Amino acid sequence: MAERNCRLLVIGGGPGGYVAAIRAGRLGLDTILVEAETLGGTCLNIGCIPSKALIHAAEEFEAAKHRAGKNPLGITASAPSIDLAATVAWKDGIVDRLTGGVAGLLRKGKVTVIRGRATFRDGRTVEIATADGVEIVRPENTIIATGSVPVELPFLPFGGKVISSTQALSLAEVPRRLVVVGGGYIGLELGTAYAKLGSDVTVVEAAGKILPQYDAELTRPVAARLAQLGVKVMAETKAKGLSADGECLVVTRADGSEEVLAADRILVTVGRRPRIEGAGIEKLGLTTERGAIRIDERCRTSMHGIFAIGDVTSEPMLAHRAMAQGEMVADIVAGESRVWDKVAIPAVCFTDPELVSVGLAPEEAKAAGHETITGLFPFQANGRAMTTGRDDGFVRVTARASDHLVLGIQAVGPGISELSASFGLALEMGARLEDIAHTIHAHPTRGEALQEAALKALGHALHI
Ligand code: FAD
Ligand code: NAD
Repeated sequence: MAERNCRLLVIGGGPGGYVAAIRAGRLGLDTILVEAETLGGTCLNIGCIPSKALIHAAEEFEAAKHRAGKNPLGITASAPSIDLAATVAWKDGIVDRLTGGVAGLLRKGKVTVIRGRATFRDGRTVEIATADGVEIVRPENTIIATGSVPVELPFLPFGGKVISSTQALSLAEVPRRLVVVGGGYIGLELGTAYAKLGSDVTVVEAAGKILPQYDAELTRPVAARLAQLGVKVMAETKAKGLSADGECLVVTRADGSEEVLAADRILVTVGRRPRIEGAGIEKLGLTTERGAIRIDERCRTSMHGIFAIGDVTSEPMLAHRAMAQGEMVADIVAGESRVWDKVAIPAVCFTDPELVSVGLAPEEAKAAGHETITGLFPFQANGRAMTTGRDDGFVRVTARASDHLVLGIQAVGPGISELSASFGLALEMGARLEDIAHTIHAHPTRGEALQEAALKALGHALHI
């Protein structure tokens, strides 16, 4: 049985784990990364990247359909068709390029990559089951970056026509009728994509509205576009199980009534849970909280020398959070004094229109005890938005009334995800409304709506 020691062992090669390992390798730490499946983890293989590729293909298809019909741009084209298998192959090519890139970066960083499943024997000994047998690693430090898995409903287990996001990203054909259980991030991103690809989509959401974590002002444009795309949203409705013949989904409304929904595919997207099982993590007796490993502001677990990062440490389950944690922990293991002191973690939902939230929403700021001022600028008054044929949505800025410190920025609009960087920068730099208002924003861009929202909060918007 092969045995080795190392300074750092990283378990899991997703965005948290691979970033930690690359950084550690570049810092000269003797680093081993172990990955049971494919480098890149959920994000690159079955999450962020493939979903955005599918969403892009769906947008292109929908735009082509729009051009084939009557449209105000004066463009006519013939009706498009789609070969979903070819789209999936294109998506797989992007995934391969990115995962290959990660492998190359790890190689350059002199990280030893072991393909296999890691299991803790104890806090200082990790066993790795590889295709060639078992290896033992005795690391000085370990980072647990095992990610998350989709939540399975016990009365609607995955299999047959009941699928998770993983299968939804690799279907051979566009389902005629798609029922989506859970109107959160994944359900709406993929539900919208399939609606554009031609599926008849119904979203079943237990809460009172879609994307319940965001306020109604923010989600209204998304709901309006879903209606325009013909997506039926059933709020305050819960999945109950399959009908007796296994063909339909039975749902229960808030008033207790039941409805039977015919479906070719049922996509269950009711959240993800930390992946703790299978790596012997339970044996270590680490402190957990609602199924996630509890960490402090340095991503330290309750056991000395063991860190945890990414989805396994709970919400927000976002790739950029995992990456930032991974980078920080590598620095800490190398001896740097670092602590998690981020002002905000941007959240982007790639619906149509897209939705961005950085920092506090107006109600959250009030609930936190701040006296606030808010400015909202609609894209209806933004020249660039008009020229793209889509002027739905807005940018909204909330600041502390006393000194105008920006507390939060939200936006909803087509392509608005690209503005998340400037929103995040504003918060991280401790910007005041005046800093944004006095920054020259290029014309004509959607970014001008941020400047105008700040001006509006200060009481003197220019273009509204
Ligand atoms: P993961 O990416 O889950 O990686 C964990 C890795 O650990 C896996 O490769 C797994 O095989 C490996 N592993 C687990 N156990 C072991 C073991 N015992 N031994 C060895 N290896 C092991 N986030 C965003 O920020 N933006 C998005 O647009 C976005 N879109 C998404 C779309 C979908 C459909 C899904 C499902 C998720 C999306 N996410 C998005 C979330 C994002 O994918 C995760 O937050 C991110 O991947 C978490 O990174 P991680 O490193 O913590 O874990
Ligand atoms: P989610 O938490 O975003 O949404 C789950 C939804 O399912 C909620 O609205 C919830 O009310 C609903 N629900 C729960 N049980 C239900 C039931 N029995 N019947 C009907 N509805 C029910 O979870 P998700 O969409 O599965 O995504 C998981 C995580 O992945 C997200 O929290 C996010 O962190 C990450 N993600 C991020 C992005 C992004 O950043 N763009 C994209 C996809 C996924």
